[in-house]
Amino acid sequence: MSKINVLTAQVFNRIAAGEVVERPASIVKELVENSLDAGASSIRIEVVDGGIKQIKVIDNGSGIVFEDLQKAFLPHATSKIATVEDLEAIASLGFRGEALASIASVSQIELTSKTANSEVGGTLEIDGGKVTKHEEVASPNGTFITVNNLFYNTPARAKFLNKPKTEETKITNLVSRFILANPKVSFTYIANGKEVYRSTGKNLEEAVYTVYGKDTLNSLIPFEEKVDDITISGYVGKPTYSKSNRTYQTLIINGRYVVNSTVSASVYGAYSNYLMKGKFPFFIINLNMPHNSLDVNVHPNKLDVKFINSGRIYSLINNAVVNALLSANNILRIENTEEVKEQIIPSATYESASGASFKSDNKPHEVEIESTDLVQKQADLLSSFESIKGSSNKTAFGENTSVLTNSLHSSLNSIKEDYKTTVNETQISAFESVMDGSDINYIGKVFNTFLLIEKQDSLYLIDQHAAHERLKYDKLTQQINNKQIESQMLLVPIIINTNHLEEEFMLEHLSDIQALGFEIESFGSLSFKISSIPAVLMGLNVELFFNNILKDISVFNSLNSSDLINDKLKQISCKSAVKGGDNLSSDEIKLLFEAMHKNNTTLLCPHGRPVIVEVTRKEIDKWFKRIV
Ligand code: ADP
Ligand code: MG
Repeated sequence: MSKINVLTAQVFNRIAAGEVVERPASIVKELVENSLDAGASSIRIEVVDGGIKQIKVIDNGSGIVFEDLQKAFLPHATSKIATVEDLEAIASLGFRGEALASIASVSQIELTSKTANSEVGGTLEIDGGKVTKHEEVASPNGTFITVNNLFYNTPARAKFLNKPKTEETKITNLVSRFILANPKVSFTYIANGKEVYRSTGKNLEEAVYTVYGKDTLNSLIPFEEKVDDITISGYVGKPTYSKSNRTYQTLIINGRYVVNSTVSASVYGAYSNYLMKGKFPFFIINLNMPHNSLDVNVHPNKLDVKFINSGRIYSLINNAVVNALLSANNILRIENTEEVKEQIIPSATYESASGASFKSDNKPHEVEIESTDLVQKQADLLSSFESIKGSSNKTAFGENTSVLTNSLHSSLNSIKEDYKTTVNETQISAFESVMDGSDINYIGKVFNTFLLIEKQDSLYLIDQHAAHERLKYDKLTQQINNKQIESQMLLVPIIINTNHLEEEFMLEHLSDIQALGFEIESFGSLSFKISSIPAVLMGLNVELFFNNILKDISVFNSLNSSDLINDKLKQISCKSAVKGGDNLSSDEIKLLFEAMHKNNTTLLCPHGRPVIVEVTRKEIDKWFKRIV
């Protein structure tokens, strides 16, 4: 064993640098956070070769007094905390007092700074941790830092750097988050001499515009909600707008860009029925909350945060996003034919939109399971069961349940599946604005599916199934709100099996579930028997529904379970809206219109596909080359 040495500051800092200074983007992060902490309203960031060769950060913040210049580079030197108590209520971004010391130990730094109260500024040059220059200079108020030749003295670390372009992308990404997180600060970002971003520092809308452009901004829904001491605001993508990866997600807590799994889970939950497979929501969520209700010290780079009460945050965000989605105007406007191809469901899937028909049976026939006429229904179901089996439709059957239960189940499943591929992912919105006024001309319908309406200079196509769904949704919401939910007895009770955790959750919330129209009781160990369900949900895949609820319990803990169940119920009511036969008579269509018109809400059913499509006259003129 060799002798124990106490490391010199220089060696120690280089080790610490490993943690803070992983790559150029982490340096940019530390420097910009310092500028923000210094109260800058304008920050300019310039990088050369992905920041490996040079990073410049220039701000108009408070500056550093001449005597403190050198101190700023000492390890554990910070102006942001002095006591342990300060740690509890920390509002600033950096406070470990490590960044500058670490960065200086693995690069060549020049720092020039001046405070508003000083006559003259100061400049400091540090080379691999050693001060090579420290003198007074003329300088504007604020701080100007240049970091040159990153890792020039630690070649082993330099090897881990990616290609400059890749490092630059990471920085660009980071800067975009800073812009979104600090809409009141004007940022200029220049990479290899080219201006990438210039934000105005006015508001979030302009920040979003700077980062994502006009088209994206038009595809977003702004929202803002305040509950007690928490404000949540931002933008979410309209249900028709989604992304194929997670990079379009920004969470900002008290002005800091962070990542948090409770928040993601909550947003995903709100979108669960809107998004098609492989698609991810777009969101920018801004949370403002008391500093003592979260812990920001969980990650060395402080990217993650922990909430003291994560259940509450979950439901707040979930509600806010669900509300935002419901308020969206989701008329899809067709402006170029590419878009048509991409966004409209192929008509082939609509052809089978017979609502209640079985896959194995092309004739639409209605399956309304009522407590009357049970025998006939059972016989029907059994024969459907046979036909499903006959058509080798694979269905998983539990060993211990009766054939009848299975047949009921698989029938309901297949209805559901059929339905799912056709109309469940639809939405109606802003129907009001279309239906408004007397200048509406109902033209007719095509493919037994779409209603055509002419209004002013637009042609609207409306999905009649979605219209139905919306009506069901409203009915259920109304029933839930009035606590008058009609139940419907199931032909055969359904048994749900749980594990211990799930059982505990179910037992704890049994009365909430019952209040929603489910007749449910404990059925021996780890089992529950459901004998009635809300009438509006006839056709619901009960097991799937409960699985859906139980799936999320680990995230919720303290979450208000009836809210959660309400939400799921509402979402699912759309899916269960089954009406046999597509061929609505014009009287029925009229009734539908009237019902929708009477319904004074924004008409939207929370699923990922448009319900109303608008084709402008201009667009049609273009098709026919009347205009170009
Ligand atoms: P921390 O930010 O954790 O305090 P740093 O090493 O990043 O530690 O910075 C050390 C100190 O230097 C800060 O506490 C602050 O007083 C000062 N400082 C750094 N950057 C700036 C800046 N851009 N403007 C004003 N002061 C700064
Ligand atoms: Mg700092």
